[in-house]
Amino acid sequence: MNWRPVDCHAHSLFSDGALTVEQVADRVRSLGVVPSVADHISRDVSRSVSDIDGVRAYLDALDGFPVLRGGEFCWHDSLWRELPPDLVLRFTHRLGSLHAIRLGDDTLVRAFARRLPRPITIREYMAGHLASLERLAREMPVDVLSHPTLVALPFKNVDANELWTDAHERRMVDVLFDANIAFEISTRYPPHERIVRCAVERGVRLSLGSDGHTLAQVGDIRRPLALARSLGVRDEDLYDPVRHGSKTRSGQAVLA
Ligand SMILES: [Zn+2]
Repeated sequence: MNWRPVDCHAHSLFSDGALTVEQVADRVRSLGVVPSVADHISRDVSRSVSDIDGVRAYLDALDGFPVLRGGEFCWHDSLWRELPPDLVLRFTHRLGSLHAIRLGDDTLVRAFARRLPRPITIREYMAGHLASLERLAREMPVDVLSHPTLVALPFKNVDANELWTDAHERRMVDVLFDANIAFEISTRYPPHERIVRCAVERGVRLSLGSDGHTLAQVGDIRRPLALARSLGVRDEDLYDPVRHGSKTRSGQAVLA
């Protein structure tokens, strides 16, 4: 077996990381992991690749190195909708994320804002989170949902059992299964084990992601890999754009 796990979600200095593509590639490979750069591509996250020319320059830069060419796109921002098809085809896979959600009355709640736009209960917030996920799955042709359990800062320290009811978890995994979107086990934003088990039992594919921004972080997918294995998932079933393909349909034309 020469299978090696893929870190589908490493950042370089094209967005908020601090590393060159070469540094990411070398470091991740030294860990026995397949490198995939997936910088943030959004107009609504600071220090992102934030326009179409920038996306082209980003892909041009990745072309020079033996890395998979991913990108993390914000659902709530429109940049991903505007990418011309020739650029989309150059990605090996794409990730979608909820860096902001919309509540029932359309209020936008950003994940990293310190204050909520108005008083919001946990129940209302989670209803908005799941409804936004359903829209993401319907609208975005992505392969992976990044950090599925990331919630807005004011709710960050709420116990997972209080945030996530069984019904929320089942709804999330049903949505991902139906849309053929993998559930990311993130090193940076680790999901609670129960929701990952729920995803596995539903047949949702898992993806490993360091969400690493520094040399010490990129390619460090030890904990996600251990969690996936502990739930009985075979290594070769973890999302690999080359092995499993991508909605960008360029997954086969990757590393020579
Ligand atoms: Zn993210």
